[in-house]
Amino acid sequence: MSEISSHKEALKHSGLKNTKQRNAILNILEKSTQPLTADQIYVALINEKTAINLSTIYRVLNTLAEKNLIVKTSSVSDNKALFELNSFEHKHHLVCVECKKIIMVDECPFEEYEKKLKEKMGFTILGHKLEIYGICNNCKKKDEENKHTQ
Ligand SMILES: [Zn+2]
Ligand SMILES: [Zn+2]
Repeated sequence: MSEISSHKEALKHSGLKNTKQRNAILNILEKSTQPLTADQIYVALINEKTAINLSTIYRVLNTLAEKNLIVKTSSVSDNKALFELNSFEHKHHLVCVECKKIIMVDECPFEEYEKKLKEKMGFTILGHKLEIYGICNNCKKKDEENKHTQ
Protein backbone atom coordinates (compact mmCIF):
# COMPACT_ATOMS: atom_id res chain seq x y z
CA MET A 1 0.00 0.00 0.00
CA SER A 2 1.30 3.40 -0.84
CA GLU A 3 1.61 6.11 1.76
CA ILE A 4 -0.64 9.03 1.22
CA SER A 5 0.89 12.12 2.69
CA SER A 6 -2.12 14.27 3.36
CA HIS A 7 -5.84 13.81 3.47
CA LYS A 8 -6.28 16.30 0.63
CA GLU A 9 -4.15 14.10 -1.55
CA ALA A 10 -6.15 11.10 -0.38
CA LEU A 11 -9.42 12.82 -1.25
CA LYS A 12 -8.15 13.47 -4.74
CA HIS A 13 -7.12 9.84 -5.18
CA SER A 14 -10.49 8.61 -4.04
CA GLY A 15 -12.32 10.61 -6.67
CA LEU A 16 -14.35 12.40 -4.02
CA LYS A 17 -14.83 16.12 -4.26
CA ASN A 18 -12.86 18.21 -1.85
CA THR A 19 -15.72 19.78 0.09
CA LYS A 20 -15.52 21.99 3.15
CA GLN A 21 -17.33 19.42 5.28
CA ARG A 22 -15.17 16.50 4.22
CA ASN A 23 -12.05 18.54 4.80
CA ALA A 24 -13.16 19.75 8.21
CA ILE A 25 -13.94 16.22 9.38
CA LEU A 26 -10.71 14.80 7.99
CA ASN A 27 -8.85 17.61 9.74
CA ILE A 28 -10.33 16.67 13.09
CA LEU A 29 -9.44 13.02 12.60
CA GLU A 30 -5.95 13.92 11.50
CA LYS A 31 -5.34 15.91 14.66
CA SER A 32 -6.73 13.29 16.96
CA THR A 33 -4.46 10.65 18.44
CA GLN A 34 -7.46 8.40 19.06
CA PRO A 35 -10.33 7.12 16.98
CA LEU A 36 -13.41 9.30 17.50
CA THR A 37 -17.15 8.80 17.53
CA ALA A 38 -19.41 10.99 15.39
CA ASP A 39 -20.47 12.79 18.58
CA GLN A 40 -16.88 13.59 19.48
CA ILE A 41 -16.24 14.87 15.98
CA TYR A 42 -19.35 17.03 16.29
CA VAL A 43 -18.06 18.59 19.51
CA ALA A 44 -14.56 19.07 18.09
CA LEU A 45 -16.03 20.85 15.07
CA ILE A 46 -18.02 23.19 17.30
CA ASN A 47 -14.85 23.97 19.23
CA GLU A 48 -13.30 24.98 15.94
CA LYS A 49 -16.35 27.09 15.16
CA THR A 50 -17.36 24.84 12.30
CA ALA A 51 -20.89 23.72 12.88
CA ILE A 52 -21.94 20.66 10.92
CA ASN A 53 -25.06 18.86 12.01
CA LEU A 54 -24.77 15.33 13.27
CA SER A 55 -26.66 13.67 10.42
CA THR A 56 -24.36 15.33 7.90
CA ILE A 57 -21.37 14.15 9.90
CA TYR A 58 -22.68 10.59 9.77
CA ARG A 59 -23.22 10.84 6.05
CA VAL A 60 -19.75 12.25 5.40
CA LEU A 61 -18.16 9.64 7.67
CA ASN A 62 -19.87 6.82 5.84
CA THR A 63 -18.82 8.18 2.46
CA LEU A 64 -15.23 8.54 3.63
CA ALA A 65 -15.29 5.03 5.09
CA GLU A 66 -16.65 3.59 1.84
CA LYS A 67 -13.72 5.10 0.01
CA ASN A 68 -11.32 3.77 2.64
CA LEU A 69 -10.13 7.24 3.61
CA ILE A 70 -11.14 6.51 7.15
CA VAL A 71 -11.62 3.30 9.04
CA LYS A 72 -14.71 2.48 11.02
CA THR A 73 -14.31 0.35 14.08
CA SER A 74 -16.78 -0.39 16.80
CA SER A 75 -16.29 0.02 20.49
CA VAL A 76 -17.32 -2.58 22.97
CA SER A 77 -20.54 -2.13 24.88
CA ASP A 78 -22.38 0.90 23.57
CA ASN A 79 -21.98 -0.11 19.95
CA LYS A 80 -20.95 3.36 18.91
CA ALA A 81 -18.85 3.34 15.83
CA LEU A 82 -15.40 4.87 16.06
CA PHE A 83 -13.71 6.49 13.14
CA GLU A 84 -10.07 7.09 12.47
CA LEU A 85 -8.01 8.27 9.57
CA ASN A 86 -6.79 5.47 7.38
CA SER A 87 -3.15 6.39 7.55
CA PHE A 88 -2.16 3.14 5.85
CA GLU A 89 0.11 2.69 8.78
CA HIS A 90 -0.67 -0.63 10.22
CA LYS A 91 -1.83 -0.43 13.81
CA HIS A 92 -3.78 -2.50 16.26
CA HIS A 93 -5.99 -1.37 19.10
CA LEU A 94 -6.15 -2.29 22.73
CA VAL A 95 -9.61 -1.32 23.93
CA CYS A 96 -10.29 -0.87 27.64
CA VAL A 97 -13.82 -2.10 28.36
CA GLU A 98 -14.08 0.07 31.47
CA CYS A 99 -12.90 3.56 30.50
CA LYS A 100 -13.18 2.98 26.71
CA LYS A 101 -9.64 4.18 26.23
CA ILE A 102 -7.97 2.98 23.07
CA ILE A 103 -4.27 2.32 23.02
CA MET A 104 -2.57 2.01 19.67
CA VAL A 105 -0.05 -0.75 19.14
CA ASP A 106 2.46 -0.54 16.32
CA GLU A 107 3.55 -4.13 16.43
CA CYS A 108 1.73 -6.62 14.25
CA PRO A 109 2.00 -10.32 15.02
CA PHE A 110 0.36 -11.38 11.78
CA GLU A 111 2.86 -10.56 9.07
CA GLU A 112 4.36 -14.04 8.94
CA TYR A 113 0.96 -15.61 9.42
CA GLU A 114 -0.44 -13.71 6.45
CA LYS A 115 2.43 -14.90 4.29
CA LYS A 116 1.75 -18.49 5.32
CA LEU A 117 -1.97 -18.15 4.65
CA LYS A 118 -1.26 -16.68 1.26
CA GLU A 119 0.96 -19.63 0.34
CA LYS A 120 -1.31 -22.25 1.80
CA MET A 121 -4.70 -20.95 0.69
CA GLY A 122 -3.75 -18.93 -2.37
CA PHE A 123 -5.68 -16.10 -0.84
CA THR A 124 -4.70 -12.53 -1.65
CA ILE A 125 -4.76 -10.76 1.68
CA LEU A 126 -5.52 -7.07 1.61
CA GLY A 127 -5.44 -6.42 5.31
CA HIS A 128 -6.82 -7.33 8.66
CA LYS A 129 -8.27 -5.71 11.71
CA LEU A 130 -7.58 -6.66 15.27
CA GLU A 131 -9.03 -5.24 18.43
CA ILE A 132 -7.99 -6.59 21.77
CA TYR A 133 -10.40 -6.03 24.63
CA GLY A 134 -9.38 -5.82 28.23
CA ILE A 135 -8.82 -3.61 31.22
CA CYS A 136 -6.14 -0.94 31.13
CA ASN A 137 -3.56 -0.35 33.84
CA ASN A 138 -5.39 2.66 35.27
CA CYS A 139 -8.68 0.85 35.60
CA LYS A 140 -6.94 -2.18 37.09
CA LYS A 141 -5.40 0.02 39.77
CA LYS A 142 -8.77 1.60 40.49
CA ASP A 143 -10.42 -1.80 40.77
CA GLU A 144 -7.80 -2.93 43.25
CA GLU A 145 -8.17 0.21 45.33
CA ASN A 146 -11.94 -0.33 45.44
CA LYS A 147 -11.46 -3.87 46.65
CA HIS A 148 -9.28 -2.68 49.51
CA THR A 149 -11.71 -0.04 50.70
CA GLN A 150 -14.71 -2.38 50.71
ZN1 LIG B 1 -9.37 1.72 31.39
ZN1 LIG C 1 -1.65 -6.48 12.01
